Amino acid sequence: MLDEIAEQITACEKCALCRSRTHAVPGEGAEDAAIMLIGEGPGAREDEQGRPFVGPAGQLLNQLLLQAGLRRPDVFITNIVKCRPPGNRDPLPEEIAACHEYLMGQIATINPNVICVLGRPALHALIDPTLSISREHGVPRVIDGITYVPLYHPAAALHQQSLGPILVEDMKRLAPFLRRRADR
Ligand code: URA
Ligand code: SF4
Repeated sequence: MLDEIAEQITACEKCALCRSRTHAVPGEGAEDAAIMLIGEGPGAREDEQGRPFVGPAGQLLNQLLLQAGLRRPDVFITNIVKCRPPGNRDPLPEEIAACHEYLMGQIATINPNVICVLGRPALHALIDPTLSISREHGVPRVIDGITYVPLYHPAAALHQQSLGPILVEDMKRLAPFLRRRADR
């Protein structure tokens, strides 16, 4: 199922981002992952490799996950848009809307115990465009039976190092969700 969605994404031409991408970045992780991380969109390195969070923000994400007792194989990682916005600008509302069905398909297939929303654009797209990440980070909320936990984006912690320990503390709250499907 995830493979089928990934194939559709790789061939997708539903928004203008298809014209500037090198590779679409469908996402990565196990189909039965208990935790889903949803970022903003691929950056330069992700566009080069077709894999999510492999650049500097991804390296930091891996370290932060380890400090919180989590590993990349525990999570499925994707983004609200699957193709890189040129110059790393924020994705446009019409791009997010065009890409939404793929994300919804991934969420429905994986059926995770918790969805971590990384950074402001994902928070605004998935939960509420009026919320502030500095107020919402680490605070779980349940919408339509799905638990969401907003987190600061790891790229923000590259620029502002004081956010690193906050991200780790917030991520530690995910441990109770780290139960496999069979244990639910
Ligand atoms: N930033 C994101 O939001 N997503 C990636 O995949 C990489 C960097
Ligand atoms: Fe299709 Fe999403 Fe890529 Fe736009 S960003 S071309 S909707 S896969």
